[in-house]
Amino acid sequence: MADRVVPSDEFGKVEARGIDFIPPDERHGKPRQLFAVWAAANINYLYIVLGGLLTVFGLNVWQAMAAVVVGNLYWAAIGAMGTSGPAAGAPSSVIMRAMYGTTGNRFNLGIFQWPVFIAYEAINLCLGALAGFAVVEAWGGSLPTAARVAVVFVTAGVTLTISVYGHATIMRMSGVFTVMLATAMAVLAIFVVAHADWGYQPEAELRGAAMWAAMAAGTALIAAAPLSWGVSPDYARYLPADTSNKAVAVWTALGGFIPSVLLGGVGVLAGTVIDMTDAQTNLAAIVPAWFYPVFLLVIVVGSVANNVLTMYSSGLYLQAVGIPLRRSITVLFDGALGIAIACYALFVSDFTSALSGILELSIVLIGPSVAIYVTDQWLRGNRYDGVALNDVSSDGIAWYTRGFNVAGLSALLSGALAAALFVQNDEFAGPLARALGGADLSWLAGPLVASCVYIAVTRLCYPTRKPDTGLPVSTNWFRTRSVSTSLDQIDEPHVHELLRANIWHLRGRDRDLIVDTGIGVASLRQHLPQLFERDPIVVLTHGHLDHMGGAHEFPCCWAHDGEPFHTPPPGSLYHRPLVDELGIDAEDFAITSPILMDAVPRAEFVVSDYRLQPAPEIRWLVDGAKIDLGDREFTVLHLPGHTPASIGLFDEAGGALFSGDVVYDDILIDDCVGSDVGKYRDSMQRLIDLDVTVVHPGHGDSFDGARLREIASAYLERAVSH
Ligand SMILES: [Zn+2]
Ligand SMILES: [Zn+2]
Repeated sequence: MADRVVPSDEFGKVEARGIDFIPPDERHGKPRQLFAVWAAANINYLYIVLGGLLTVFGLNVWQAMAAVVVGNLYWAAIGAMGTSGPAAGAPSSVIMRAMYGTTGNRFNLGIFQWPVFIAYEAINLCLGALAGFAVVEAWGGSLPTAARVAVVFVTAGVTLTISVYGHATIMRMSGVFTVMLATAMAVLAIFVVAHADWGYQPEAELRGAAMWAAMAAGTALIAAAPLSWGVSPDYARYLPADTSNKAVAVWTALGGFIPSVLLGGVGVLAGTVIDMTDAQTNLAAIVPAWFYPVFLLVIVVGSVANNVLTMYSSGLYLQAVGIPLRRSITVLFDGALGIAIACYALFVSDFTSALSGILELSIVLIGPSVAIYVTDQWLRGNRYDGVALNDVSSDGIAWYTRGFNVAGLSALLSGALAAALFVQNDEFAGPLARALGGADLSWLAGPLVASCVYIAVTRLCYPTRKPDTGLPVSTNWFRTRSVSTSLDQIDEPHVHELLRANIWHLRGRDRDLIVDTGIGVASLRQHLPQLFERDPIVVLTHGHLDHMGGAHEFPCCWAHDGEPFHTPPPGSLYHRPLVDELGIDAEDFAITSPILMDAVPRAEFVVSDYRLQPAPEIRWLVDGAKIDLGDREFTVLHLPGHTPASIGLFDEAGGALFSGDVVYDDILIDDCVGSDVGKYRDSMQRLIDLDVTVVHPGHGDSFDGARLREIASAYLERAVSH
């Protein structure tokens, strides 16, 4: 195998991984590190503004505080979403393929989610830049346009650098940002609390329906912030798969919830003494002159910390849409686009209010999308297969109905419709919101409807699909065909042909002979009790997983020494790891799906949990040993080549040969771990010289002696030319 550079996730190095699966040996970290990631991005001046706006709505202090707390409860959903990261080893943009289908998710991300992210990026850059201009002006007077452009490029450049470096760098910088921002915000909070008018009453006290409408509108305003962070899995996906779900959920949620609620509260209190419609200017009245530039700097740094996550995740979104570029490049592209839009808004034509309008309306889509995600996690028991979800072919597990998951798309659309009916803001008022006297309940209606529709349509359209793989459940796992009155050929039709080996069941007069045991994903004892009835002699032709997978169900098996039957390698049902483990050349086999099965044997089956079980007891066979069934006797032939311990069983009287993987009528494998072409040639020569009339091979159907000699001769000729 060629030297492979192991991608590493380290501070100060450009992260090599993007939307691809993070393998177990690259997983690291602790869930509590997620707190700083979410705190850094959410110790944000914007939340002070939002809290302040609640007083502008006419709410008193306690009503406003209640709206801040209730709206931010959506952080619990963002925390729950985060747990899918370690489970899948993949980011949200890939996991959402399970909800919308491979193609459907391209639309979901590309049309609905990604543009909102870019708008957020641009708005954030503008807010940071405006504060940056104010800092420089506070120290050095008015700024020429060139200097303003420079301010934008410096702040955007810092942000983009961190995002391009990626995960480990973001994790490290988050701690720095959190400490800086939390300290400065704490000082600001002291000044605000000292000046606050705790007995504040709005000019006209709201009552009844008007009060509830204002509360609902305020909660909608607050809820939009947590709901826009449906990317929490992206930052948890490097954690080991067995990381505590509770810890991931709690640290993520608290990292967002605590600063959002505290800063929202500070904003509410500030709103009792100053007009928060222009908070940045008016806050100067209640902080000392020396602190004002510090406060402005906090806005700048906060916008950087916030945008780092937005740029990073939007880069992953672009990859998942199908842009075939490295993550560092897609992030750069997104960043450049955000900067361009921000510069246009700042220097050419101010359309920030239009962008804000887009974001206010985005709750109509992002609310349902978060609800669908969490509902899907609940339906699947949070099991996602990050390897399989990266297969975007029509064989992939997220293909559903022509690439679309009907449940996810209908839930998203109906949730968005429901939210639109209830939304109420400056640009748009839904008919139901108007009927309710202007109460904006979009933040409740959208998620609720989306969740219900998702469950209903999933049950309706995909009732038999196993949730975490998308594969159907086939309870009729084994296929038994009778070759003669005493011989059955049993195989596993849902297993890829590379691994679809025969289990031969021969009923002798005194005892039964079983040759090989299948791959071991379904219980032989449960499905094929007849195998166990007559204390059978179980022979393993060699130690490959497709032949000894079920051996552990028998008290004792027979095999030839030379392979690790007691300590087998773990095996895998995934294409890539298995090919690597066996050392075979994957080009020889038409493998299009990452999972080497097209169904699972039971609903609880977890593909990634598969391990090849060791055989409990092995008795050793040697070349020439006899196996006596009463009416038939088999001679053991040691036939190394495919593997060191490969054997065949030959009925000298009848001419029948059980040949394992030494000979079958397909591509023979002589290049796997333990293969030996020289010995394989000797084994083939030995078979040509035997008086074989019928072969019962390890794979595929039986054939006659003439075909055996053709295959063996062809092998000898081919192996010569090697
Ligand atoms: Zn084999
Ligand atoms: Zn095999």
